[in-house]
Amino acid sequence: MNKKDYYEVLGVSKSASQDEIKSAFRKLAKKYHPDVSKEENAEAKFKEVQEAYTVLSDEQKRKQYDQFGHAAFEQGGAGAGGFGGGFSGFDFNGFDYSDIFDNIFDGIGGFGRRSSSSSRARRGSDSLMGMKLTFEEAVFGCKKEINLDVIEDCDNCRGKGGFGESTCDACHGSGTVTQEQHTIFGSFLSKTTCSKCGGTGKTYERTCTSCHGTGRVKKTKNLEIKVPAGVDTGTRLKLSGKGDAGVNGGANGDLYIEFKVSDHEFFVRDENDIYLEVPITITEAILGCKKEVPTLYGNVTLTIPAGSESGDKHRMRGKGIDNQATRQKGDMYVVLKIVTPKKLSRDQKKLLEELSKTNLNDDNDIKRYLKYVEKNRK
Ligand SMILES: [Zn+2]
Ligand SMILES: [Zn+2]
Repeated sequence: MNKKDYYEVLGVSKSASQDEIKSAFRKLAKKYHPDVSKEENAEAKFKEVQEAYTVLSDEQKRKQYDQFGHAAFEQGGAGAGGFGGGFSGFDFNGFDYSDIFDNIFDGIGGFGRRSSSSSRARRGSDSLMGMKLTFEEAVFGCKKEINLDVIEDCDNCRGKGGFGESTCDACHGSGTVTQEQHTIFGSFLSKTTCSKCGGTGKTYERTCTSCHGTGRVKKTKNLEIKVPAGVDTGTRLKLSGKGDAGVNGGANGDLYIEFKVSDHEFFVRDENDIYLEVPITITEAILGCKKEVPTLYGNVTLTIPAGSESGDKHRMRGKGIDNQATRQKGDMYVVLKIVTPKKLSRDQKKLLEELSKTNLNDDNDIKRYLKYVEKNRK
């Protein structure tokens, strides 16, 4: 059999760095992984890529390959004597790809992994759901009931897919069948997944009607969840093990809930701080006043000093959001807004005209400003 050059398989140069090799492998593995690929001959190509990566990612093996080519890994090959003779190819199945595949397959709502070898334990898929909260629910936390569609083991057949279990007679329980194939080049043995039992090694007298033999069913579950105080739009709550059930003893996936919080009519939130615009009249600003203002924790009386201006901020320490997740407490800011009256009686106008005679020239900043206006006159 003519094997393709490993560097060619990965599409990298002979001098490629480990990073380049790894990145080329990731790309190709993603493209050809039999669980997700729609490419033709994906499985064969994936194996080819996997094999090339196993060798080239290992400095020692790479050196041997550079020196002896494929012969380095064939029993009794040219290079075999050089490193112990007993070296007869790799067990590619024993190679740990987890660091690479975690990145490819993790992520929410990711791939529904199709089964390729059905007896392998597989983790269930993660799922993501959105949840709308009112401003108060998000700020103070709340309890919510959710209906969750989850894939679980079928109760009816206990996840087996059928009743009257017996060892598959086609593969004698191994899940794979070995066939002898005769070709013009001679005969050889090939191993494939048993088609009768789908690789489980077991057959059933009667197929389960609830799950149609898959051993898995979709169920709607009612779940009460506790939303911690302080969540905001975009916050994700992770409920470990509440995603889809694992297969063959694999762990369950996780459920993520992403929140969307509606705006409050008056309070504006900035992380854990709360802003409130409080309207005051001109006279209140000039003379000062006491104002009843709402906070998250009930009304308080705020003393507004004489001579206040629009935009003045009053900080109320600890009156913001008490965030359970970050254990931080925000503040509240009252921002003054002086409202200019639109309708005035004749008497009020007179009073204001009196007021307009107020001399502002004792303020140094204003003095300098007025001088500038004078100088700028043409
Ligand atoms: Zn079988
Ligand atoms: Zn069933």
